[in-house]
Amino acid sequence: MEQNQNNWLLTSWISNEGASRIFIELKFTLRDCNSLPGGLGTCKETFNVYYFESDDADGRNVKENQYIKIDTIAADESFTELDLGDRVMKLNTEIRDVGPLTKKGFYLAFQDVGACIALVSVRVYYKKCPSVIRNLALFPDTITGADSSQLLEVSGSCVNHSVTDEPPKMHCSAEGEWLVPIGKCMCKAGYEEKNSTCQVCRPGFFKASPQSPSCSKCPPHSYTHEEASTSCLCEEHYFRRESDPPTMACTTPSPISIVKKGKIAKNSISLSWQEPDRPNGIILEYEIKYFEKDQETSYTIIKSKETKITVDGLKPASTYIFQIRARTAAGYGGFSRRFEFETSPVSVAASSDQSQIPIIAVSVTVGVILLAVVIGFLLSGSCCDHGCGWASSLRAVAYPSLIWRCGYSKAKQDPEEEKMHFHNGHIKLPGVRTYIDPHTYEDPNQAVHEFAKEIEASCITIERVIGAGEFGEVCSGRLKLPGKREFPVAIKTLKVGYTEKQRRDFLGEASIMGQFDHPNIIHLEGVVTKSKPVMIVTEYMENGSLDTFLKKNDGQFTVIQLVGMLRGIASGMKYLSDMGYVHRDLAARNILINSNLVCKVSDFGLSRVLEDDPEAAYTTRGGKIPIRWTAPEAIAFRKFTSASDVWSYGIVMWEVVSYGERPYWEMTNQDVIKAVEEGYRLPSPMDCPAALYQLMLDCWQKDRNSRPKFDEIVSMLDKLIRNPSSLKTLVNASSRVSNLLVEHSPLGSGAYRSVGEWLEAIKMGRYTEIFMENGYSSMDAVAQVTLDSNSCKGMNHLVKGGASPTSPCFRMDIRLEGSCADWRRPAL
Ligand code: AMP
Repeated sequence: MEQNQNNWLLTSWISNEGASRIFIELKFTLRDCNSLPGGLGTCKETFNVYYFESDDADGRNVKENQYIKIDTIAADESFTELDLGDRVMKLNTEIRDVGPLTKKGFYLAFQDVGACIALVSVRVYYKKCPSVIRNLALFPDTITGADSSQLLEVSGSCVNHSVTDEPPKMHCSAEGEWLVPIGKCMCKAGYEEKNSTCQVCRPGFFKASPQSPSCSKCPPHSYTHEEASTSCLCEEHYFRRESDPPTMACTTPSPISIVKKGKIAKNSISLSWQEPDRPNGIILEYEIKYFEKDQETSYTIIKSKETKITVDGLKPASTYIFQIRARTAAGYGGFSRRFEFETSPVSVAASSDQSQIPIIAVSVTVGVILLAVVIGFLLSGSCCDHGCGWASSLRAVAYPSLIWRCGYSKAKQDPEEEKMHFHNGHIKLPGVRTYIDPHTYEDPNQAVHEFAKEIEASCITIERVIGAGEFGEVCSGRLKLPGKREFPVAIKTLKVGYTEKQRRDFLGEASIMGQFDHPNIIHLEGVVTKSKPVMIVTEYMENGSLDTFLKKNDGQFTVIQLVGMLRGIASGMKYLSDMGYVHRDLAARNILINSNLVCKVSDFGLSRVLEDDPEAAYTTRGGKIPIRWTAPEAIAFRKFTSASDVWSYGIVMWEVVSYGERPYWEMTNQDVIKAVEEGYRLPSPMDCPAALYQLMLDCWQKDRNSRPKFDEIVSMLDKLIRNPSSLKTLVNASSRVSNLLVEHSPLGSGAYRSVGEWLEAIKMGRYTEIFMENGYSSMDAVAQVTLDSNSCKGMNHLVKGGASPTSPCFRMDIRLEGSCADWRRPAL
C-alpha cells in the first residue's frame, strides 16, 4: 500500500543448453485494483519480466539497470474480493520468447511495481525436433533455430547395416517439427528393412544388393547356411553362370518342360518334346524314363538323340508315366515333370487293326520284296567293294531308310536309341547297361559284333603312324561313313602273323570299349574284322597320351585347367564304376587328351591290359601288375575293385599335378611296395593345392572302404572348380614334412626319439652320420627343413655324400617330403 514499490525476484542462473531461443511460460494470479479498498493510487495490475545473459553463474551482483526487459505482463483475468470468498483462483498464463541468445545461460528477473500478484510458476524451455529415424537415417535431437521462421537443414546418418543411397536430409522448423525429408539410406546386401532397422537375412535367405527390397528365399537348387548372405550357393550338380543374377535358380541342363503325345496305339505312344530353353551346353542325347502308373519300381529307360520317340512294347489301355531329361558334357539335367499318357484299349485297337488289314497286307508284301532286294544286294558284294561313297549313294537312292546304316554290315536295332529296364533300382535284362565281360561269350567274334560296328576298310584312310601298341601300330587317319562328314580317327592295327589268341585279345578291347558311351571314355567308331589288317577305329585324340603331353608342356597350365583334366578323368571313371567295370590299369599313360584338353580314359582290356603295359610287373603270386599305380590289396591278393581304381586315380592326380613325373621316381618296385605297406605315401607335388593333395591322400587310404567313391571325387572337384579360391592354399613345405613323418609313419606320431632311430626306421640308417655332421641332429631340426634353398643345398651335399651311385638322392628326398624339390627336379 506504500508508494514507489520496486520489488525484484531473481532466478538462479539457467543454462540455455545450446538453445538460442528460449520460451518463458508464466502462470500467475493478479488482484483487480478496483476491488481493493482505498489506496488505489499505488495499485498496479502489471509486472515486468527481464533477462540478463552470462556464461556462468556470476550474475547475482548485476545491477537492475543491466537487465534487459522482455515485456510488461498484464493479466487477462484478475480476481476480486468476491472470488476470494468463493475461493476461485483465476490463473493467467503468458508466454514470451527471447532470442537470439549468445551466451551459455541467463538470469530471469521479475519486477513488481505495486501489483497484488502471485507468480505461481515459471517454466523456461526451448524447442527441439526430437531424434527420429526416417528413411533408415537417424536424425538427432535438434534444437530449433534462433529465428521463429527459420528451417534448420539437418543431415541424417544411416542406421546400422545400411548405406547411403542419396544423402539423407531433413529440416527442423522453429516449432520443433521435422519437415521435407530428402534422400535415403538402404539396408546393405545381406540385410533387410524391418521397423526402421536393418535386420540380417536368415540362413536360407539372401539379399544381393542394397537396392533389393528385402531378403529373398534362396532360388531353387541353391542354399546358404550363413546369416547375412548376399547370394546362395548352387547345390551339388547345379550351376549358375557368372553372368546370371543371384536371383536366378541354379540349374542342371535345364529340364524339359513340355512333352507332347503324338500317335497313340494300343502298344505304343509317340512323344515329342522341345529342347530345354537354356541347355547347359550342346545336348548329346535325351533319356526317356517310363513306367506303368503306380509301378514306379519297375521302369525302363530309352535314349534318343532326337526330340521325339515312339515308345513301344506297352500294354493296351494302360496309363504310363514319362519323364525326359537331357545330357550334355556337364552331365544329366533334371528329369522333366511327370507326363501321364494312356495307350488305346484293345477293342478299339482291334477294330482299327481290322480296318487296317488291307494296309498291313500291302505293307507285308512290300516288306518281303524289300527284304529280298536287300539280301540280293548283300549277296552281290559288300557295300564298299567299289568304294564306300559310290555304294552308299546308290543305296541311298534306292532305299533312303538305309542311308545311315551303309558302311556297317551289322547294326544295332537303332543305335540312336537304347533301352534299359530297371527293377528296384537294379538294371533288368534284356538291354542291360552294365558292363558285360566279353569272356562270357563262347565266341569272341560274337562279342565284338554285339558291341562294335563293322566298318568297311575302304571307308578308312590311314595317314600316319602315331604310336606303337602291343599288337601293332597305332595310326591316325580319316573315316568317311556314307551320309556323314569325314572325320579324323585313330586306327589301331593288328600286326600280321597274329595268333588266334592275340586276335581275340586285340578285339577284346573293342568289345569292351563299344559298351561305353561317355564324353570321358574314348569312343569306339567300329572295327574292321572282315578284311586285313584287323583294325580298331576310335575317335582321334590330337594330344595323344596324357603323361607324354604333360611332360612336353611342363608348368604350362593353370591349376583350374589341371583340375578340369582330373575332373574329366574322374567323371569317366565314375561312369565305368557305375557300369561295374574295373579298369585295373588307370594311369596317365592310359588317358588320352584331345585338342580341347578333354581327357578320356582309354586302354581297356582283360588280362591283356596288364600283359601289354610295360609298367606292369610280375608279382610273387603271378600276374602282371603296374605296381606304382596299384592299391596294396590288389598287389597283395589281386583284390581289384573300383576302390583300387580310386587308388590309381590318386596316383594319376599326382602325375597330372607334377606334369608327368614318374610316381616314386626311380625307386624299385619292391621298395615301393614296402614303403606303401609301411604307411609311406607320395609327397605332394610342387605347388600343389592343399585340397588336391588331401584328395590324393584320401584315395590312398589303406582301408579301401575309406577311400572316396568316384562320384564323390567328381563332386569334390566340381566344388573346387566352382570356387577357384579354394585352390589357392598350397601344401606348405614344413607341414608336408611332419605330415609324412608322422601321419603315415607306421610308428605313429612322436615315435622317433632320435634322427638315428628315424633313419633306421626308413632304412636309411647309413646316412645318420651325415645328418649329424650337417646339423640335423634332432627330429625338430629335420622337421624344420623347408624349401629354403640353403637347406636344400645342405641336403644335396648330404645325400650325395652318402648315396651310392644307384641309390639316388630322391629316396632321401621322398622321406624329406620333397623339401628339396627344386634341387631334385633338374637333377632327375
Ligand atoms: P595304346 O596301345 O592304346 O596304348 O596306344 C599307343 C599310343 O597310341 C598311345 O600312347 C597314344 O600315343 C596313341 N594313341 C592311341 N589311341 C589314340 C587315339 N585315339 N588318339 C590319338 N592317339 C592315340
